[in-house]
Amino acid sequence: MAPSQSFEATIVGGGLGGLTAALALRQRGVRVTVLEQAARLGEVGAGIQTAPNASRLLLGLGLRRQLEAIHTEPLDQVRRRWKDGSVVGLTPLGEHCKQTYNAPYWHYHRADLHRVIMEACTAAAGPGPAVRLRTNSRVTELDRGDPSRPVAITADGERYAADVLVGADGIRSRVRDLMGAEDTLEFSGEMCYRALIPGDAIAADPATRWLVDRFQSTIWYGPDRHLVHYMIRGGQWLNIVAIVPCTDEVAENWTAPSSAAELAAAFPGWDDRVPAMLSKAAAAGDDAVSCFALYYRRPDPVWQDGRVVLLGDACHAMLPYQAQGASQAMEDGAVLAEELGTVTPDGIEQGLRRYVDRRAKHAGMVQDASLRNKTFYHYPDGPEQEERDRLLRRGFSGESD
Ligand code: FAD
Repeated sequence: MAPSQSFEATIVGGGLGGLTAALALRQRGVRVTVLEQAARLGEVGAGIQTAPNASRLLLGLGLRRQLEAIHTEPLDQVRRRWKDGSVVGLTPLGEHCKQTYNAPYWHYHRADLHRVIMEACTAAAGPGPAVRLRTNSRVTELDRGDPSRPVAITADGERYAADVLVGADGIRSRVRDLMGAEDTLEFSGEMCYRALIPGDAIAADPATRWLVDRFQSTIWYGPDRHLVHYMIRGGQWLNIVAIVPCTDEVAENWTAPSSAAELAAAFPGWDDRVPAMLSKAAAAGDDAVSCFALYYRRPDPVWQDGRVVLLGDACHAMLPYQAQGASQAMEDGAVLAEELGTVTPDGIEQGLRRYVDRRAKHAGMVQDASLRNKTFYHYPDGPEQEERDRLLRRGFSGESD
């Protein structure tokens, strides 16, 4: 039975959160329209990781075959010390995740993951009605004159009425603003460089060859900064995320061009493997590197107002220090569909409340944990760093108190 077949939902924002929600709702029989402001649906040129929580959910949406074709599987996650590269933590991933959590830990190119979900949304065949995607559709206003049929209004005056309106429009959500929420965005004092480096340049140099010999998810901890890297597309690209302090609020733009030399210079005195790797970004040119300032919110009660509801960064923007932002957005989409998939139109608001009850506390815990990692990852060398590394090493060697 799919009572929701008579529903219509409008989703504002065609990012990973909005599209996952669209696919999950489609599979419950909901007629979905996604309004995306960009001229073309897509994602930035960068990597993304899905831990078993998100991988399980994506597999549950029937995407196994497509994900098998685009993923790269890291064998383990290794944590290294900045100065000498010594290993302070090693967590098995690969087979271990599949056996322990019954779901994999995978890496992808973001554009690949986004494309796979988008194609499943729009495929003619498949459970439920195909999702309607509307690009060049920036939502600027809502009309809630009829509370049971909220209307999204785009900049060019198009009106989209539906039974449910979902704001999946990211960290600077317009839908959240229109719900009357306070501006609670906080600047982290940190910025992020992202780089994609061709895998063949990495493989050709003995100083960086180790990166392709064993696929790992690597985190380097240093005083006031850290570095994450992993291979994607089966070794075609090395994805790098580098977090450094930032005094000025660098324009918050995923694709802001940045100097690759600036990135290479941001890790002076680090273990030789780091400059060797970052020099490849410099060789790949400025286009290979982007940078932006990092913002976040603390757990926030504003998720729902009547039949207007938020998901993803729109309601739980977090620092990327657990690689969970998109994964939490995907969990939102799946739970939203579960709660709406079994109600009749009269039950929509209760269904949305159950969605918020199930998701807000959990996402808030992940937001808090990501914020705590800002301190945990960045201790200056000294007693706190030693204690952190001791704890990590103990987990690594399986010791216990
Ligand atoms: P977004 O991806 O921001 O999508 C919002 C969409 O809405 C966009 O397409 C936008 O164009 C559109 N939009 C905005 N306003 C409007 C409007 N008014 N009208 C119409 N459309 C609109 N998460 C993970 O799970 N794993 C990771 O490995 C990971 N790594 C990360 C690394 C970095 C460096 C960063 C910064 C984040 C990382 N994240 C990761 C977090 C993740 O990228 C975000 O949490 C996730 O992309 C949020 O998805 P979303 O769909 O909620 O929002």
